[in-house]
Amino acid sequence: MPTLLFAEHDDASLNPVTARALTAALALGAPVHVLVVGENARPAAEAAAKLAGVAQVLLADGPAYAHRRAEPVAALGVALAGQYGAIAAPSTAFGKSVLPRIAALIDVMQVSDVVAVIAPDTFERPTYAGNAIQRVRATDATKVLTIRTAGFAPATEGGSAPIQPVDEAGAFAGSRFVGEEIATSARPELTAARIIVSGGRAIGSAENFHSVVEPLADALGAAVGASRAAVDAGYAPNDWQVGQTGKVVAPDLYVALGISGAIQHLAGMKDSKVIVAVNKDEEAPIFQVADFGLVGDLFQIVPELTAEIAKAK
Ligand code: FAD
Repeated sequence: MPTLLFAEHDDASLNPVTARALTAALALGAPVHVLVVGENARPAAEAAAKLAGVAQVLLADGPAYAHRRAEPVAALGVALAGQYGAIAAPSTAFGKSVLPRIAALIDVMQVSDVVAVIAPDTFERPTYAGNAIQRVRATDATKVLTIRTAGFAPATEGGSAPIQPVDEAGAFAGSRFVGEEIATSARPELTAARIIVSGGRAIGSAENFHSVVEPLADALGAAVGASRAAVDAGYAPNDWQVGQTGKVVAPDLYVALGISGAIQHLAGMKDSKVIVAVNKDEEAPIFQVADFGLVGDLFQIVPELTAEIAKAK
């Protein structure tokens, strides 16, 4: 039976995590149908149809799916579930909101945060804040999987899958959309960024994020991240948090400034290809995962680094 993959998108375009989740879905070995749910979401469906390996795009488009509230989207997933051997979505806020509802409603055990597909019924997923990898076998007829997309390379373009409209699965009156605040930034989105510069508690203030962390990020064309300590102290917004309870990232380059390297932070970034750490404590655990470490005061080192990078451009 085919695999149903929920696309992550904003109606107008596809979030790059969808192409990564597709790689995981294709590893199940069955044809993959990508489900695009939204309102005026045809552009996202067209982008999904271009991904290599997609057998079909299902487009559920209408006011019932505006803002992708979890309840109507889950109802649609339940209506489609019987036709699929697996239902997958990226482990994003959307996927983590919708898939557990589907799993509960069709009474199967969800496998969360899949980092590797070993066989169509066997998966690897992190446990104990990423300190151990668990291999699990799902015996349910329909597998429900959320995918940690950082662990999978993006599927390439080159496909031309047909786009098939799907009917609404019925209205849901139990929730309504109230509003949303969308953070706009000229910088790359954290989970899609190739380079991330993150600041920790040592940054000391929101002003220092602006004057020390952000210039280095801009010199590198990077996204800005933060430790939970920095977020809790109000130095950085919530959606910058990297870690177990923040975003899980695996960029080509991760620069950690004044971050100690607690396991909960490492859980969100230790799969980065190259890790650079600046910390004044040479015993800081971040140096155990760092490829390059600078021991010293970040307030001296980072402006020098920023100036050198700007010069080299
Ligand atoms: P600290 O641990 O205080 O480290 C600051 C570092 O800065 C130190 O190593 C210090 O040597 C260095 N430093 C100080 N001054 C300078 C200077 N001038 N120049 C250079 N270096 C300097 N944390 C996360 O980050 N993400 C999560 O998702 C997350 N989830 C959690 C979930 C749970 C259930 C729990 C219990 C905790 C979680 N945490 C998370 C918190 C985590 O345990 C740590 O408390 C947090 O990561 C520490 O942040 P930090 O490294 O910025 O601060």
